[in-house]
Amino acid sequence: KKPPARKGSMADVPSKLLNEVKEFEEMFSVSAEKLQEVTKHFITELNQGLSPEGGNIPMIPGWVVECPTGKEKGDFLAIDLGGTNLRVVLVKLGGDRTFDTTQSKYKIPDAMRTTKNPDELFVFIAESLKSFVEEQFPHGVSEPIPLGFTFSFPASQDRINQGILQTWTKGFDIPNIEGHDVVPMLVKEITKRNLPIQVVALINDTTGTLVASSYTDGDTKMGVIFGTGVNGAYYEEVANIPKLKGKLADDIPATAPMAINCEYGSFDNEHKILPRTKYDIAIDEASPRPGQQTFEKMSSGYYLGEILRLAILDVYEKGCILCDQDMTKLNTPYIMDTSFPSRIENDPFENLEDTDEILQNELGINTTVPERKLIRRLCELIGLRAARLSVTGIAAVFEKRGYKSGSVACDGSVFNRYPGFQEHAAQALRDIFGWEHGPASSYPIVLTAAEDGSGAGAAVIAALSKKRLEAGKS
Ligand code: BGC
Ligand code: MG
Repeated sequence: KKPPARKGSMADVPSKLLNEVKEFEEMFSVSAEKLQEVTKHFITELNQGLSPEGGNIPMIPGWVVECPTGKEKGDFLAIDLGGTNLRVVLVKLGGDRTFDTTQSKYKIPDAMRTTKNPDELFVFIAESLKSFVEEQFPHGVSEPIPLGFTFSFPASQDRINQGILQTWTKGFDIPNIEGHDVVPMLVKEITKRNLPIQVVALINDTTGTLVASSYTDGDTKMGVIFGTGVNGAYYEEVANIPKLKGKLADDIPATAPMAINCEYGSFDNEHKILPRTKYDIAIDEASPRPGQQTFEKMSSGYYLGEILRLAILDVYEKGCILCDQDMTKLNTPYIMDTSFPSRIENDPFENLEDTDEILQNELGINTTVPERKLIRRLCELIGLRAARLSVTGIAAVFEKRGYKSGSVACDGSVFNRYPGFQEHAAQALRDIFGWEHGPASSYPIVLTAAEDGSGAGAAVIAALSKKRLEAGKS
């Protein structure tokens, strides 16, 4: 087999296809200047979100009003309802900035994303909890185990053990849950099964990531997810959150740090600044919630494969590629998850033999080498654009807070597994701030792999929350 060809030669690609490639390059490139403009607009929207009038970006207070000391201790449960999996985690906090976890993972059945019966989701969670608890505590427990519920969707909270779903994201579409508090829905199923569990906190995955990483690294400025969805959380001083006026417990000083779940996947829902392509627009229009999550739909893992599919179909319809191939599978929306562009970008061979296999076995199409080169280039462009755009949220928070440096705790399948993503993200930050070229680890803002926010972070928050609940505070 031949040596790696990351930037494979395009010499053998006919000019007709090269023109298509060129068009894609223009469509998906985002210049340094554009990134700077986007960041500037981002700051405006973050501020609007903190105002009593509100704006596009929800900027949801997470009611975590203290940073963990690292001394939090004990057994806690966490459930992590992400975009793709449900995890149940038992976390033993050591009280010395260390922790141990044991977990089980359950794939969320595809049909459950859009089930018509809202109970089904909570029954699924409670049943998974039940088997986990029976396995971990075969002899029962002496008192109920406090549980933190990581619910990775925009949920408003007036206190920490509440979460009113604002809108489904990431392709979820289950009726009668939006506008309602999901905590009682979960508690109902837990109670029915007599499980020895007390739900003490509802947490966003970004907040969990922020807190988990602060537990182990005091220099953490943000918790960020680049996964099925995109989002970030940071600590804001209570005095800088005008919309909280009159809503705070008396013991919380104006200087207290409040974790804010930005929900910045909804950035630019008014379409003022982001360079949307026709594919982004088509994805939005066909989605269960058109007009929402504009930023997320251009940059998160749930959509990257779909952008690729639409772009391939476009060139096909022009008669440029895949003539005479059976397009049945490629005509199916969302048939390609992020692993497709990710695996294609990872293909090390000059003639893209891995890609050939993937396309043949999983999509039933035979491709020529030039066709595969075009598809591979597309994957690179889509991944690169996602990385570049998605750090503007980080840049905006740093600028807004006046942070000159610090670490950003990052998690999610795209951050952890998409080839080149971490380098591209760091370079984009460099473009925005005009830093000298250098290794990413030398930049003032460092993107680091986070601690398990939805597990350990949820546990730490559950510990903080339990302490407040026992002290009679909300
Ligand atoms: C959700 C956020 C979540 C993010 C990452 C978005 O779709 O709205 O709540 O933090 O995905 O999981
Ligand atoms: Mg997750």
